[in-house]
Amino acid sequence: MGIEEAAPSGFLLTTLEKAVGLTRKASMWPVTFGLACCAIEMMATGTPRFDISRFGMEVFRASPRQADLMIVAGRVSQKMAPVVRQVYDQMAEPKWVISMGVCASSGGMFNNYAIVQGVDHIIPVDVYLPGCPPRPEMLLNAILTLHEQVRNEPLGVNRQEAARAAEEAAMTATPTSQMKGLLR
Ligand code: SF4
Repeated sequence: MGIEEAAPSGFLLTTLEKAVGLTRKASMWPVTFGLACCAIEMMATGTPRFDISRFGMEVFRASPRQADLMIVAGRVSQKMAPVVRQVYDQMAEPKWVISMGVCASSGGMFNNYAIVQGVDHIIPVDVYLPGCPPRPEMLLNAILTLHEQVRNEPLGVNRQEAARAAEEAAMTATPTSQMKGLLR
């Protein structure tokens, strides 16, 4: 009798999914990217006091092609929006995004024409982190939350399709006229 018949239904796929989830969450590298004051707290997360290297993530990659996590740390200006999108597009698949601080998540106190009112207008976000600025411990908590999501993510999900749907939903909820033409 083969293992497929002996094992409960879905056993092999579930085991493979768990293994893939574990390796993905344990091999996450952030891209070097900071936009405003929140980035100072993100940098502090890499210091020995907070020690992001406990999770094997201390190597902030200088090339998006070697990174699979973008931490959007700070407000996104209209001028920077295409740059953020280009860096995101160049990152390796599968990739994840943490929106760090109220400015990145919703524009924060900058309710004006110069600031994108939420980075989810241009890229999909997996974890929103509140605060102004969030402390390094809060960023570590967001990273652990993301790890948990990645560990339990089923295989075969079309993340690109889900990402495009999330962008469309954000744009429909709060249209940003300057973002026209940025989405594909
Ligand atoms: S949330 Fe606060 S600390 Fe972060 S970018 Fe905005 S103003 Fe700066």
